Amino acid sequence: MDRYAEIRKQTARVRERPLLAAPKIPNELELQARWFAGEFGRKFQTLVGELVEIVQFGFWNREAGPDFQDAAIRLAGGPILRGPIEIDLLDRNWESHGHATNPAFDDAILHVFLERSGVEFFARTSTHRNVPQIQLDLAALRDGAAVMVPLAHAGRCVAPLRNLEAERVTSVLEAAAKFRLRQKANRLRQRIEVHGRDEALFQAIAEALGYKQNRLPFTLLAQRLPLAFLRKRREDAEALLFGFAGFLDAPDLDRQRKSTRSYLRSLWDRWWKYREQFSRLVLPAKLWKTSGARPLNHPHRRLGALAVMVAEWKTFSALAGASKATPLVSFLTDLRHDFWSRHYSLAAASASSSLALIGNSRAAEILANLVYPLAVNDDREIWNDYKNLRAHLSNQAARIAAARLFAGDPRQRDFVRSLVGQQGLLQIYEDFCLRDASDCASCPLPEQLRRW
Ligand code: SF4
Repeated sequence: MDRYAEIRKQTARVRERPLLAAPKIPNELELQARWFAGEFGRKFQTLVGELVEIVQFGFWNREAGPDFQDAAIRLAGGPILRGPIEIDLLDRNWESHGHATNPAFDDAILHVFLERSGVEFFARTSTHRNVPQIQLDLAALRDGAAVMVPLAHAGRCVAPLRNLEAERVTSVLEAAAKFRLRQKANRLRQRIEVHGRDEALFQAIAEALGYKQNRLPFTLLAQRLPLAFLRKRREDAEALLFGFAGFLDAPDLDRQRKSTRSYLRSLWDRWWKYREQFSRLVLPAKLWKTSGARPLNHPHRRLGALAVMVAEWKTFSALAGASKATPLVSFLTDLRHDFWSRHYSLAAASASSSLALIGNSRAAEILANLVYPLAVNDDREIWNDYKNLRAHLSNQAARIAAARLFAGDPRQRDFVRSLVGQQGLLQIYEDFCLRDASDCASCPLPEQLRRW
């Protein structure tokens, strides 16, 4: 077993991630980030009914102690109080994380939490002072709104990582990235065993096009409309995809823009003959998420891209089988569609210039999640090619992970410039940061890094 896998085994809470994550409450890092971004608002009531106004959210704490330091609040209309704020998922975390006996929390001015445990917990300091508590309401979040989420606070592994030579940090990230690649290969192999190679790839492509908000409906579409079924009905494939997606439900063509009307009519003319037979499989509208996504990533456009992939499947399959990144990325980013290369959605006006159907970050996602895992399964030696790929994915998890592990390290950019660096960072974040419930205290990674 390799070194990364051995270290990972020490995190007792590590478990595999499901294909489709169910809607969940934010983890603690997300909660803190969204609080800091002001998404929950500035005015609250304490558990005993006093009004609290957040005058200053403070700064991420990079040392031991509460999450935010130098914050300022006004309690019950009184004078401004300055001090740290602690944020937890559960009210009882104040007690279970040892804040009640930790003098670093003695100056806390506020304890913020998301959920109650059913039993009444007070936020008591080691000097027996009661810290006011407020409970956050998830309903206050503008769900899916595009928000600039600030970076997370620095973790305990920042110091050992900073003291490691660059080559060693790179070797840690590469070990984690290699582990991640093998995990993806195993998942893909399982899928291939169940559905066959082409169907498994098609489902994975659909999932990549659904990332991030619409993975579930895209996966359902690829499962309900197998590639073989679509390829046999090539002329109707696009209409079937849009019909099953529920995007053709009784369109009022007269109200559509002129440029959209003829496109919709062409789809509808093919869809109506399947409509009754498959009506039970049409996805409900509530499954689709459109708010907060960039116009280029609208699910209508992404579905148009999937339809083009069906039409071009032979070429894609051959390129994916050869696992050559450059021609594959060119193929994906050069795909065109008469309507979708000019439209952001079925409701939007025509764009003034040509729009890429699949952009660089989607192509990178397809390489990382599908093409290279496939090559690993086929026993092809691709590691040197993989190492040379540049990172194009710009997800929030990667940014938070970089802030947690490399805060203040001037070499940070160099480490995450490559796809391998970014994938390694994401694996560490998922295996250690997201499983950690001790504010880094029980995380085994810092000690292991010192011995790397
Ligand atoms: S949980 Fe572990 S890996 Fe994550 S920031 Fe803390 S010490 Fe580092």
